[in-house]
Amino acid sequence: MDFKLTNEQKDIAKAAREFAEKEFVERAEEFDREETFDEAIFKKAAELGFVGFFIDEKYGGAGLGILEHCILQEEFADVDLGISVAVLTPCFGSEIIQAFGTEEQKSRYLPSLATGKAIMGSAFTEPDAGSDLAAARTMAVKEGDEFVINGSKIFITNGTRADYLICFIQTDPENRDKHRRHSMFMVETNREGFEANKLRGKLGIRASDTAEVSFTNVRVPSSNMVGKPGNGFNEAIYLFNLNRIAVAAQAVGLMRSALKEGVNHVKKRFTFGAPLASYQAIQFKLADIYTWMRAGRNMVYEAAWKIDQGEMDHALVAAAKAFCGQMAVKCADMAL
Ligand SMILES: Cc1cc2nc3c(=O)[nH]c(=O)nc-3n(C[C@H](O)[C@H](O)[C@H](O)COP(=O)(O)OP(=O)(O)OC[C@H]3O[C@@H](n4cnc5c(N)ncnc54)[C@H](O)[C@@H]3O)c2cc1C
Repeated sequence: MDFKLTNEQKDIAKAAREFAEKEFVERAEEFDREETFDEAIFKKAAELGFVGFFIDEKYGGAGLGILEHCILQEEFADVDLGISVAVLTPCFGSEIIQAFGTEEQKSRYLPSLATGKAIMGSAFTEPDAGSDLAAARTMAVKEGDEFVINGSKIFITNGTRADYLICFIQTDPENRDKHRRHSMFMVETNREGFEANKLRGKLGIRASDTAEVSFTNVRVPSSNMVGKPGNGFNEAIYLFNLNRIAVAAQAVGLMRSALKEGVNHVKKRFTFGAPLASYQAIQFKLADIYTWMRAGRNMVYEAAWKIDQGEMDHALVAAAKAFCGQMAVKCADMAL
């Protein structure tokens, strides 16, 4: 067993941290208040190679592993989670194209995503189908060599920014197996009948665009289907596992940030002639944050390392996301 990061991994962490401190800090409050984002930051991140980390070098990506992606996520999230999500999600869903797409689809979509020339999102959730994904009702009906799509999706990250959305859509609603009813389609957002409306008033991650999108007789060629007909649920779960570990890494970044801000404050703030840091009740809180942050990071690293070795440990990935997400909320509360 070797817990040491390689020099390359350490360099990634350092470069990510320097970039985030230079580009995120000054704008974070404005983006949070206004629920906006400056695409110039995304473009700079893409130029420096932070976007499309896990896309194959063959398609213009960095060809790095999920562990490296988690290291990047943690560094960015520690500085500002909203901007981090806005910068790192424009490839959200490209994992499906890379794993299930045809060679033609990979060549068509991946190079522009890896270099930040295009933005995508993934559309699964519907007003009546969140955790119960198989209940999604947006429908595609085949007409000749096209599919006609009708329905709506909600909470879609990058919904109003994206050039394409990969969409989870019913193609075989009568299938007795509810996990074989859906297929995955790439939908260009400039197609007639597509509409996106930004949702406002989120409690956090406000630099990141979240939208409601609708499809009214949107026509796409059959060649836009990614993967086999009826295989959409499997493709979705493949993506969710990869995304869960990235979200867990973001949560580790948040815990780190809570610890850093907490320590800074208690050293400076004096009551009854002594800094808050000198009181054991305060020290206990900081020790708890440190402990949960380190435990969470170990879970993330192990799960990510296993994925890079070819083993998807579903239970560990889910546990890491649940633990890190819950602990990040708790750490933020305690630091406040
Ligand atoms: C900021 C943000 C960005 C998002 N981005 C995207 C995106 O890009 N694409 C996309 O498709 N979706 C996106 N989502 C949607 C997200 O994936 C859903 O919110 C999630 O799937 C949960 O669905 P829901 O909100 O409808 O909750 P529900 O499914 O209604 O669940 C409500 C609660 O009930 C619990 N629950 C549900 N079923 C069970 C069960 N069987 N057992 C125990 N507890 C249960 C849940 O854990 C939850 O606590 C985003 C959401 C947010 C907030």
